[in-house]
Amino acid sequence: MKLPAQVTVVEVGPRDGLQNEPFFLETGLKAELINCLIEAGFKRIEATSFVRPEWIPQLRDAEEVLKLVGRPPGVRLSALVPNLKGYQRAVSSGIAEINMVVSASELHNRKNVNRSIEESLRDFARIAGAARGDGILVRGSVAVSFGCPYQGGVDPGKVIGLASALWDMGCCEVVLADTIGCANPVQVYRVVSAVLEKIPGICLAAHFHDTRGMGLANVLAALQAGVAVFDSSIGGLGGCPYAPGAPGNIATEDLVNMLAAMDVETGIDLTRVIKCADRLQRKGEKRLR
Ligand code: MG
Repeated sequence: MKLPAQVTVVEVGPRDGLQNEPFFLETGLKAELINCLIEAGFKRIEATSFVRPEWIPQLRDAEEVLKLVGRPPGVRLSALVPNLKGYQRAVSSGIAEINMVVSASELHNRKNVNRSIEESLRDFARIAGAARGDGILVRGSVAVSFGCPYQGGVDPGKVIGLASALWDMGCCEVVLADTIGCANPVQVYRVVSAVLEKIPGICLAAHFHDTRGMGLANVLAALQAGVAVFDSSIGGLGGCPYAPGAPGNIATEDLVNMLAAMDVETGIDLTRVIKCADRLQRKGEKRLR
């Protein structure tokens, strides 16, 4: 079986995970979680989001969290940025990388950010230009790359077009996201292979959900197709906004465990990750009562 020797795991629990939880994890605990993840060996963590606090109250403390976290050399913290205003807040917080998300379905993009795909791309091109000048890395994500909760199937041609647009505007990496967890391994292999073939040189990452239990199978398919960067969420934080009660983001522990078992290097200490998840659960539960 063809596998890369090394894989980068991007921890997205503090942002993608927490934003989909029904509670507010207090600022100190968020920072503690991020610091704990850094100690466990993560070099890339999606730490927070600069969206309007009334949209995502769970992450209303973005600035405060970033003041409390360590930023050792070699560790790249990123934040989701939906628009120019969010970008300016991100710059003021000294973030190393921003993540911009556009959906491969017009309807999903509209429901998600109240804009057309074209409007999103226009805004993102401006932000990417500013980021270049500010020395900030830009990650571009294509949501619902494998299926949409509103329109169903998604044309792989649309995914290729968006990945290409994001890559051309200067993104350092493009993420294909299975936002609702409907992808299957054969589909993943085909779509990823098509994107890599049509956009030579693109740095591709994948973001899978475990809604229907196919998360890790999809990781394996993407690995086979040539992806070596994967998002995951500690403790599977986040759930699925479209399927209440179902798991959402693949759990970091499961991903790291599978990669280690296959002798793929991640640089992450699994025991520490599990300790980190346990600590968060114990402390978080105490505060939530
Ligand atoms: Mg997700």
